[in-house]
Amino acid sequence: MENEEIRKPVEIKEKDQLVFPGQFIGVIEQFLPGQNTYVEEANIYSTQFGMAHLDRRGLRVKVFPKRKAQLVPTVGDVAVGEIVHASNQMTSIAITSVNGKECVPSYTCLMHISRISRKYLESMDEAVRTGDIVRVKIIDAKTLPLQAESTGINFGVVYAECSQCGGKLKKIGTNKLKCTSCESTENRKMSIHYGSPMALA
Ligand SMILES: [Zn+2]
Repeated sequence: MENEEIRKPVEIKEKDQLVFPGQFIGVIEQFLPGQNTYVEEANIYSTQFGMAHLDRRGLRVKVFPKRKAQLVPTVGDVAVGEIVHASNQMTSIAITSVNGKECVPSYTCLMHISRISRKYLESMDEAVRTGDIVRVKIIDAKTLPLQAESTGINFGVVYAECSQCGGKLKKIGTNKLKCTSCESTENRKMSIHYGSPMALA
């Protein structure tokens, strides 16, 4: 967009107008600045890409941000999320990214204990715990909630905190972690990317 376009006030009296961040919307003598706007030298600008809207009485202008098209995960996608619940058989994951792209709003994804590791697991605790960040593969996306697995070296826990003190857990073996604060040890089904900041996206 040309700078001149951005400096020209948008005509929002009749209907909502598409605006860009930094776009001049009007002056405070015309209306009050509302949500997602800011004022500089009595001029009102938008902070967002979205639709500028004048309220019914024509007093206040606000901008409704336009959201990016929502990601729809499919089978084979790589997802990262937080374990929000872990029972004996099933974990529930709040997915925050899919194939490296931020996922807003988050999807809920289920992972059965038999899908966590190729090895037989006695209990969920030895593989994942609530609060862990996991890297998983989507295996069923036909219906919600999505289903995932974490078998294979690339998948599994990528970040975990100590269940005793909340300290950072450091990898000391294939499935073993040690707390950097209280030195207690815990097991997880870890990804080879455990601890790498890159694995969190
Ligand atoms: Zn600890």
